[in-house]
Amino acid sequence: MPGTNATPPARLPIEGSEVQGLQLDTVVVAAGRPERAHDAAVNPPIVLSSTFHGIGEVRDGDRAYGRYANPTWDPLEDALAELEGASQSGLLFASGLAATAAALDLVPVGGVLVMPRHSYQGALVLASELAQKGLFELRLVDIAETVAVEAALAGATTLWIESPTNPLLEVADFPAVTAAARREGALVIADNTFATPLVQRPLEFGADVVLHSVTKYLAGHSDVLLGALLTSDAGLRARLLHFRSLHGGIAGPFEAWLGLRGLRTLALRVERSQASADWLARRLAGDSRVSGVRYPGLPGDPGHVRAAAQMSGFGSILGLELPSAEAADAVVSGLRLWTPATSLGGVESLIERRRRHANEPVTVPEGFLRLSVGIENVQDLWADLDQALTAAAQQAPPSMP
Ligand SMILES: *Cc1c(COP(=O)(O)O)cnc(C)c1O
Repeated sequence: MPGTNATPPARLPIEGSEVQGLQLDTVVVAAGRPERAHDAAVNPPIVLSSTFHGIGEVRDGDRAYGRYANPTWDPLEDALAELEGASQSGLLFASGLAATAAALDLVPVGGVLVMPRHSYQGALVLASELAQKGLFELRLVDIAETVAVEAALAGATTLWIESPTNPLLEVADFPAVTAAARREGALVIADNTFATPLVQRPLEFGADVVLHSVTKYLAGHSDVLLGALLTSDAGLRARLLHFRSLHGGIAGPFEAWLGLRGLRTLALRVERSQASADWLARRLAGDSRVSGVRYPGLPGDPGHVRAAAQMSGFGSILGLELPSAEAADAVVSGLRLWTPATSLGGVESLIERRRRHANEPVTVPEGFLRLSVGIENVQDLWADLDQALTAAAQQAPPSMP
């Protein structure tokens, strides 16, 4: 077995791929297919092997051992790179947070990381812990406040972008903040989980690394945990691969296979759930049973103009504000079709009061519900929400002015 300092295999950049030049909703179906040969399978196989034949000297690019490479990862890594417009093949991880840990390792010791106050909770906790150990300085910002982000970037080495943010759906001015980071010479890492590459492509705005919790929309069925990193920079990819090979947060072959299997329907799922989220947001806006709706697709939403300029849709997550934690909990417990659970991006609609997590930032209102709209019939989703809102309103004492 190669030692811990073995050179990780270098996979070739993608070139001359047979799916190049196709629309992204075709790429999700066509990318990562095995070579065409008579009687060959149309789907890649699952390769269950912890080691690979090694005859003679170990050469660059050899698979060698299962912590460095597995052929089952390749089709999904290539497909994700194609979707994000990365010239290097992607890197698959055991989870979005394993990918986050690798990406945070790019922050230099003694560096300065600028990060949204409302980033994904796990990423925030991990970055805070690394900062507390003294590895780097962490500056939290409201990512939608471009002037404040620019100010925080003075002397920074790394900018983390999440947009729309989780859970408040704030929208960053992607081109402006990445340009500001560039002027400082800071590396830009963008978590694109909420939007998916079908809706937003951060590398085109100048991001250096794109992160995905593949667990969510890309795999899409709430049955697998996976993460991914994409970059066009060969040097950055080599560092991230080195981290993955040594820390061992690798994807299981079956998980990787499930991820590609889920990806095949991404375009249909995103199209359907986005249309339903938009419909529900419009229906709920101005409904007296809720005190607010957050959805970048609503013309009155603070993020609307920016989202319309830099995204090709508005995503399938919406925020619903109820006057109190009790009122929000009453809505959740009255639902029959919507599933009360954390996570997002699956075929089934999920709902959650975010502040039920002790770690959730206090800037997220107590009565804030995050809705991940799935692919069910939108009338059924509405009927269920409608009855739960009415039941909760009847149950709650009228709120004092
Ligand atoms: C879920 C999520 C993560 C973490 O991914 P896991 O696969 O759960 O480890 C990171 N970022 C965002 C935006 C997420 O929603």
